[in-house]
Amino acid sequence: MKHFDVIVVGGGHAGAEAAAAAARMGARVALVSMRRDRIGVMSCNPAIGGLGKGHLVREIDALDGIMGLAADEAGIQYRLLNRRKGPAVQGPRVQADRKLYREAILRLLEQQQGLELIEGEVVDLVEEAGRIGGVDLASGDRLSAGAVVLTAGTFLNGVIHIGDVRRSGGREGDTASIRLGERLRSYDFARGRLKTGTPARLDGRTINWSILDAQPGDDAPVMMSFANRSPKVRQISCGITHTNERTHDIVRRNLSLSAMYGGHIEGVGPRYCPSIEDKVVRFADKSEHQIFLEPEGLDDDTVYPNGISSSLPAEVQEAYIRSIRGLEVVRIIQPGYAIEYDYFDPQALSPGLETAVPGLYFAGQINGTTGYEEAAAQGLVAGSSAAAQVLGRERLRFTRRDSYIGVMLDDLRARGVTEPYRMFTSRAEFRLHLRADNADQRLTEKGFAAGLVKESRRAAFSAKMSAVNALRLNLEEIKVLPAEMRAAGLAAGKDGSRRSLLEVLSYPDVTWDKIYALAPQAESVDPAIRDQVWCDALYAQYLDRQENDAAGLTRHADTPIPGEIDYRALPGLSTELATKLDRLRPASLRDAEGIEGMTPAALILVLAHCRKAE
Ligand code: FAD
Repeated sequence: MKHFDVIVVGGGHAGAEAAAAAARMGARVALVSMRRDRIGVMSCNPAIGGLGKGHLVREIDALDGIMGLAADEAGIQYRLLNRRKGPAVQGPRVQADRKLYREAILRLLEQQQGLELIEGEVVDLVEEAGRIGGVDLASGDRLSAGAVVLTAGTFLNGVIHIGDVRRSGGREGDTASIRLGERLRSYDFARGRLKTGTPARLDGRTINWSILDAQPGDDAPVMMSFANRSPKVRQISCGITHTNERTHDIVRRNLSLSAMYGGHIEGVGPRYCPSIEDKVVRFADKSEHQIFLEPEGLDDDTVYPNGISSSLPAEVQEAYIRSIRGLEVVRIIQPGYAIEYDYFDPQALSPGLETAVPGLYFAGQINGTTGYEEAAAQGLVAGSSAAAQVLGRERLRFTRRDSYIGVMLDDLRARGVTEPYRMFTSRAEFRLHLRADNADQRLTEKGFAAGLVKESRRAAFSAKMSAVNALRLNLEEIKVLPAEMRAAGLAAGKDGSRRSLLEVLSYPDVTWDKIYALAPQAESVDPAIRDQVWCDALYAQYLDRQENDAAGLTRHADTPIPGEIDYRALPGLSTELATKLDRLRPASLRDAEGIEGMTPAALILVLAHCRKAE
């Protein structure tokens, strides 16, 4: 029997990151996954990052994780979402070549010292003296360990639905994890069923690209990892098309045949990733919905139609897809489907994601989340915590103030889930501080102190910060008079006092060209360093207000909320939260805070209303 410090079960996004993190901590790790060639598979859309999710990728990367590195190895189209808004809510996103991503994850895991990849199905958990002692494989082999991290994704008692056809499966092409699912049901863990769906895959050679708009990537691509500066492979464009009334008619007429709407599925699905059935019902007034046609790889003709996931019968999917412009004669490679699976209530987990069974950790989709990035971030937490426990070291801790990882852990543990949880920037009360651009400043040193970040990564970070601090100090020391500012084309105040160039940098409409006139030495500084100094200066002025808002929510937690409040009339409150508040009628701000999906921004709106009403 082989012995490891930590065994990670599952080679998806949570498992890959968990195994890599535990090994970086110095543990001897086994990553056991059903199929080696399926490690790092993206089950749904071929993209990493996005709003809120891109922040998580950067945090994983700041802690020396592998998701950002692999995404850059495979990145075929980079887009910074919310580019026109402030950097705090911008989300780096990359469309990734599926095969290259999978290969990059496998390579990074193979190169990781102290990590062994084992192909096999875990069918049982071994307990010894009230704590986890290892796992049993379907082959009959037993592996022992001080801790086990379970990351089985959508596989636990997974059932795939296409119309009224249902069959067991972990996802298309993979068998479900039935024996382990049953074994887990024998524990006392509170559990439920969730569902998610994916669209059909199309043959790109049968799409009429010539009549469709093309969407290229950004001219100045923003990488997913702090370690990279430019794309590694050829960049491509996506196509854009739209559904139409005929598409909606076909979907509407066949709603009763949908697994989702025909009552074949008991699990709850992600409201934020609506299927085409959802869209047609929930947004009945819309005559079209945008679809991005995303090539799945450089050497692959498969196209992922982003925006039309479905669990309708295959022939109905073909009919509605062929009603869409450019897809009139498209060949469907694989129909869309919904999948239903077991998850466990994350409220029972410790901050390090340990379950009530000592030494057993859960991470990823099995904790009720959805998304590769959410899974990977939890994997990093569980893997590093498990390793710290076995090695007798201090566990890395996260808070809502230092990371989206902290926000997610706190949300999951405090409120649990009633639908698949995904990250949004609105979930963070300290989002002006929790930016994608400064994830390394928030986490790299902390990760190094915990033993999770390698010396090479820390050295690169230190070099970057020396350059950032040098420019920052330099600009702070240069004090300019209003007349000098005006001569450089900068807006100047009327009080006649000198201002530091660092302060001036945060003014609206400032460009570096204008700053160079007053600080020529800044022109030779690396543009990435200049951007960082600008971003930090821009937000420095808002951080106090953010602190005040957060402190105000704590101070006024017991503020009663008037029973007659009309939430739907509160400007700025989303319909979704207004509906929840209206239904649940919390008695105080503290009660409102406990509602699943509640955001700090919404609480501030409610508080402002209550205080006005006082
Ligand atoms: P997974 O990526 O599912 O990985 C689980 C791993 O565990 C696999 O490698 C599997 O082989 C292994 N495994 C399972 N049981 C065992 C066992 N007993 N022994 C050994 N190995 C085992 N996310 C979104 O953000 N948006 C979407 O629209 C979306 N749609 C989705 C649609 C579908 C059909 C599916 C399947 C998933 C979708 N997701 C979506 C979710 C996304 O794929 C997951 O959130 C993410 O992959 C979860 O990562 P994970 O590591 O927790 O699990």
